[in-house]
Amino acid sequence: MASSTNAFEMAQSQFDHVAEQLKLDPPVREFLRWPMREYHFRIPVRMDDGTLRVFEGFRVQHNDARGPNKGGIRFHPAETMDTVRALGMWMTWKCAVADIPLGGGKGGVIVDPSTLSVSEKERLVRGWVQKMWANIGPRKDVPAPDVGTTPQMMGWMMDEYSRLAGQYTPGVITGKPVGGGGSLGRTEATGYGVVYTVREAMKHLKLDSTQCRAAVQGFGNVAQYAAIGFVEMLGGSVVCVSYWDREDRMPYTVSKEDGIDPHFLVSITDQYGSIDKEKAVEAGYKIEEADAWISKDVDVLIPAALEGQINEETVKSISSRVKIIAEGANGPTTPEADEVIKERGIFMIPDFLCNAGGVTVSYFEGVQNDMNFYWTREEVLEKEDNKMTQAFHSVLDMSLKAKVYMRDAAYMVAIDRVVKAMELRGWI
Ligand code: NAD
Repeated sequence: MASSTNAFEMAQSQFDHVAEQLKLDPPVREFLRWPMREYHFRIPVRMDDGTLRVFEGFRVQHNDARGPNKGGIRFHPAETMDTVRALGMWMTWKCAVADIPLGGGKGGVIVDPSTLSVSEKERLVRGWVQKMWANIGPRKDVPAPDVGTTPQMMGWMMDEYSRLAGQYTPGVITGKPVGGGGSLGRTEATGYGVVYTVREAMKHLKLDSTQCRAAVQGFGNVAQYAAIGFVEMLGGSVVCVSYWDREDRMPYTVSKEDGIDPHFLVSITDQYGSIDKEKAVEAGYKIEEADAWISKDVDVLIPAALEGQINEETVKSISSRVKIIAEGANGPTTPEADEVIKERGIFMIPDFLCNAGGVTVSYFEGVQNDMNFYWTREEVLEKEDNKMTQAFHSVLDMSLKAKVYMRDAAYMVAIDRVVKAMELRGWI
């Protein structure tokens, strides 16, 4: 597989690799290599000081054969049409592998949201909806939060859409605040989903979870709940987490050989996932260099921070004890490192399977909005567990049957489901 720093080229190359194995027809390949529709627009916003700024916005609808497009809106200064295209394509595969009746999409705005005031952010997200509202909707395309966007921003977007559509339409967007149309269980959904897939992998590998140790990279939304779930649901121990220190502007690993207390660490972590290291040291934790997490003597590695963290260099430090890698983050492993992991026979739970718990509960949010009836947190998490367990086993079955790596098996399951839906609809 070609290595590439352009996310869309990487997404296309992963797709091509599996399309070849599946012997997909060339026109079908060409169709799926690209988004079905793309929107690129400009949003004028009146700033607090009276000046006018024009922002560049995007929305990509990759494929809606299985249901309305689904995917977040990212506010980031380095956003490009290609990153949005790649993420939109991955959403198609993620929804298909989780077997939820949604397609893939993604949106964005080129902006550093930390430079905007609260009211400027509100005007910008309302402006995004004013440009896109005719092309989104509960039966067309359902956005959600992503990097740089928040539940509050989703609340404003839902309000703007409802105003333009002339009726309350909570199902147009997910990730809304609880009490404002959001679902209970959404906050912990992605991290817990990671743990549900790890639990199933351990059963398959006949590992006793209470004897297993894990190392986690990151300590934001996904990593915190993955660590809590690993300790509380599986009875295992987590020996370290890592994070980006906002004061020192560099990453560190925070470790404790006999197991961290994730609730304690959450209590000394800020909203950006940065840990108060003085308090951690006082409580007996060790502060180590950033990459220390990857060389720990553990059974499970959970990269849950950023893309490209397990690469040609860092992969060499993975201990011979590691049996499972659970990709909480999107794209944490480069294609070069993937080859090494495959050769070493480490069991891989690939990103769009491992972190599909988030979009699964977003789907449940839309279902609850449609019913206008809301489930308890326990009901939501039980339904999520069932979906994630089914998704894991459909990929594992494919991997065993076709004798392929778990990542390729996940692609095969997903592409096969999307192609079948296109056939059933008479598109191909
Ligand atoms: P977040 O912003 O809440 O947390 C990110 C964490 O990574 C923070 O603790 C930060 O300190 C840490 N970090 C940043 N740079 C680091 C570095 N160089 N080394 C170590 N740690 C570093 O983000 P999140 O929502 O937890 O998302 C994490 C990953 O999971 C991303 O790849 C995201 O796309 C993916 N993901 C998130 C969800 C979700 O529902 N939140 C769903 C699917 C996938």
